[in-house]
Amino acid sequence: MIAEVIVNSSAAELNRVFDYKVPDGYTIGQNIDIGYRVLVSFANYKNLEIGYIIGFKETSEFKCKAISRVCDRAFDLDKYELAKWMARRYFCNLSDTLRLLVPPGTKTDIDKVKIKYERWVRLTKEYLSNINQENETKKFTIRSEKQKRVIEFLLDNKEIPAGILYDVTDSNSQVIKALEDKNICESFEMEVLRNPFLNKVVKRTEKLELTKKQSEVLNGIDFTNYNSYLIHGVTGSGKTEIYLQLIEKVINSGKNAIVLVPEISLTPQITNRFLSRFGRIIAILHSKLSNGERFDEWRRIQNKEARIVIGARSALFAPISNVGVIIIDEEHDSSYKSENTPKYDARDVATKMAKLYNIPLVLGSATPDVRTYYEATNNTQNMKLFELKERIPGAVMPDVKVVDLRKELANGNKTVFSEELYKEIKKNLENKEQIILFLNRRGYSTFIMCRDCGYVIKCDNCDVAMTYHITKNKLMCHYCGAEKKPVQICPSCGGENIRYFGTGTQKIEAQINKVFPEASVIRMDVDTTTTKNAHEIILNKFRDEKIDILLGTQMITKGHDFENVTLVGVLAADSSINIGDYRAQERTFQLLTQVAGRSGRGEKKGRAIIQTYMPDEFSIITAQKQDYKRFYEQEIKVREKLKYPPFCDIMVAVVVGKKEAEIIDDANKIYNIFKSHFDVFAPMPAPISKINDNYRWRVLIKAKVTDNDIDIINYCLESFEKSKHKDTKLNFDINPNNMM
Ligand code: ADP
Ligand code: ZN
Repeated sequence: MIAEVIVNSSAAELNRVFDYKVPDGYTIGQNIDIGYRVLVSFANYKNLEIGYIIGFKETSEFKCKAISRVCDRAFDLDKYELAKWMARRYFCNLSDTLRLLVPPGTKTDIDKVKIKYERWVRLTKEYLSNINQENETKKFTIRSEKQKRVIEFLLDNKEIPAGILYDVTDSNSQVIKALEDKNICESFEMEVLRNPFLNKVVKRTEKLELTKKQSEVLNGIDFTNYNSYLIHGVTGSGKTEIYLQLIEKVINSGKNAIVLVPEISLTPQITNRFLSRFGRIIAILHSKLSNGERFDEWRRIQNKEARIVIGARSALFAPISNVGVIIIDEEHDSSYKSENTPKYDARDVATKMAKLYNIPLVLGSATPDVRTYYEATNNTQNMKLFELKERIPGAVMPDVKVVDLRKELANGNKTVFSEELYKEIKKNLENKEQIILFLNRRGYSTFIMCRDCGYVIKCDNCDVAMTYHITKNKLMCHYCGAEKKPVQICPSCGGENIRYFGTGTQKIEAQINKVFPEASVIRMDVDTTTTKNAHEIILNKFRDEKIDILLGTQMITKGHDFENVTLVGVLAADSSINIGDYRAQERTFQLLTQVAGRSGRGEKKGRAIIQTYMPDEFSIITAQKQDYKRFYEQEIKVREKLKYPPFCDIMVAVVVGKKEAEIIDDANKIYNIFKSHFDVFAPMPAPISKINDNYRWRVLIKAKVTDNDIDIINYCLESFEKSKHKDTKLNFDINPNNMM
């Protein structure tokens, strides 16, 4: 019998399947099957490589080696079907999608992979039997206080990790060594699961009595069949509580649950709510885990110790069996769409899975994706809609004011704080209530221009203006990370009238220190959150040390629930309207509504102030009223008229490479290949025409993509692959987040 194996080696040709003999003593369906992990010798490599069995056949036309070792099952047949579906649907190799199904960072020697051991200490059997006989007399032969403390502690606690023992008994390895020499205690190795919340003490919470509205939602969900549901509920309307009780129902029926939350809000706040309700049966998967932690969470799921998986989009592929519900919180969030291969949309994959398992899919948001809301209200996908229009009694929606920055300027106010925002910040500082300030640009000055000739300082590698960072005193490129010394003389005309324009979070921080010297402020953006637990540390500090102002970019807008925040200020709402994307209004509306929703979540009523140069944009008007419906009705008309999603799909092909002539040539090839099947726009340089010294040309294709079209697109992409220049890379995606 021959096994067909995909070899997980960088040396193996990606989409090729290799044949290996099944060793004696193995029977398909018993101790070997599709989805099993194996070790195989590959090419002339010394080390064995990991492979995954994806099929069997009687004979092979090649003279093939035998599998060196059969390991465990890595994924089941359902998942394998899903991986195949994804490879076709997202135009990539099967090995790309299979990689999602297996824990990362696994090395060849499977037995030793990443299992971590820790030293534990316990009393010896001899000592224990001695005390039993001699009634503790032995203990008194010990003179050292520290040694006595250790013994007493071990008598109570049996065995314990050495590190914790040192802490609680104020001892150290020498103390233990002395006791070991007397044959009183011994240490041993114990496997540890690197649990990301090992050191967390959370109070258990009980379920709340649901409001009538919440019960209607919970009771309206059919657990026995596939159906999809959209819970559209304003911020603070009790959606999370519904998820918790939904999961409880599923767990009680013996099934398991998957919950997706946006990567950015996988902060302790959300996870604590699940942890305090369900305890250790939850597993958490997100990109900031170390490979070791991820591996261990993966194992806790496989061992069935964890029954609820909470994670970012890739948590869909966790090795959890018998799934009873999939929940996607903040379903509008752009992090559900992967921008790397495989470029999947977790909502579509979740739909596929829910159908496969015949279980409910529950989406929730205060500001649903226009596409999702369209589906829910037009019933094209049999999606059921629930609306929660009010906050849980006790909290009310914040008052939102819009301030026209043009008028501020006309009145001679050149600071970043409008009159109104200044007054409100003052008020909060006096009342000891907290403030969140939001600006979607990091750095100090966001562009640097020569006033004589208009030259803008750009990155040498990218077609991107550089940002001045005061903390580093450097100009930085936010695309490739390149740095430059600050410029005082124009590189183009030699003039000395270089000016630093635009405002980033660092400048705001400096302004706060100047204008409100009495206030304490903490900044949260990409630059302050590079270390592993930085988000958590900053947010805890803000809450626990009662810092007056939390200032930050997008990452402060979601999921956080601070009782004492009663004022939210949006310093410049325009930055997302001018992004040159058909979703600009939608993104603006979502952002403003979410950030305003951070205000007044406790008993005190909240306020939000939105500063803008474009107060007449409908996304800003409707966000002020917190009126999703009105926003949606206007937006969907625009989409229909201009043939944008959901009425059409936009395929974006970006051809990338170092040689501009080849890139233009290849862009034309794409154009010609697709032209015979779809409406294609002529090739153009991409809006950002160079990144990291690579030229970029873009071809846009508009069509309502059907299942049949997927085959045609795959065919087109294969033809292109055969005819393109060797070094050209193609990024192809349907409805990508980033159109640039
Ligand atoms: P959302 O997820 O829609 O933002 P949450 O579930 O976080 O809303 O609820 C908002 C607040 O109301 C939370 O503090 C939560 O504990 C509380 N809450 C939710 N449901 C209830 C309920 N049925 N009774 C009392 N308080 C509730
Ligand atoms: Zn750059």
